[in-house]
Amino acid sequence: MRPDISIHDVMPETLHRVDEQMEMIARACPGPVTLLVVPGKQWRQDDLERLRAWSAEGHALAGHGWNHRAQRIKGIKHRLHSLFVSRDCAEHLALDRGGIVDLMKRNRQWFVDHDLPAPELYVPPAWALGPVRAPDLSETGFARVETMSGYLDIATARFQRSALVGFEAASAWQVPVLKLSNAFNRLLARRLPLRVALHPDDHRLPLAGDLRRWLVRAAGTHG
Ligand SMILES: [Zn+2]
Repeated sequence: MRPDISIHDVMPETLHRVDEQMEMIARACPGPVTLLVVPGKQWRQDDLERLRAWSAEGHALAGHGWNHRAQRIKGIKHRLHSLFVSRDCAEHLALDRGGIVDLMKRNRQWFVDHDLPAPELYVPPAWALGPVRAPDLSETGFARVETMSGYLDIATARFQRSALVGFEAASAWQVPVLKLSNAFNRLLARRLPLRVALHPDDHRLPLAGDLRRWLVRAAGTHG
């Protein structure tokens, strides 16, 4: 099975890099890509047209936070997450249950208000969902939520585990950590579905070669 390939942090300021990655994916491993869109940015008409064009080509749009910044860092768990995983983009971790549901509703409504297909999938920034459960999420309109370990189906509250590889090594210390995590997830992917997650700079970062190899390998698993 072809893995789920997604590009995180699709926003006006990253569109050019996302375009480069879409071309790279189309060359190495053609097929649908899920684009994780951040609504709360300065979207111009041309930017929105780009999203509409990708959608018309068969790519899926997904919701991804509101403005991709945590308003404040709350508690030691969030502080550690911020340091090791999210670099302050885990918006949900600064919110309570009601705040998270509101943010997700606002996210989905933005697509409707801008003539874009309302997404079925929501991915919290840095995969950090925060203190909500499936029944809380039924009013958001989303069908599924993706977290670090897989997908939550909101209607049934069933969780599908899924392996995950990533390439966002912005600092040197992240290179060995990600390589180890990707090697582990390669083993997991023998028995679980696989996700290949890109961030807009990954094709220019030290793990760009690994990313290309994963895409080529993904193309070999068609059918
Ligand atoms: Zn993100």
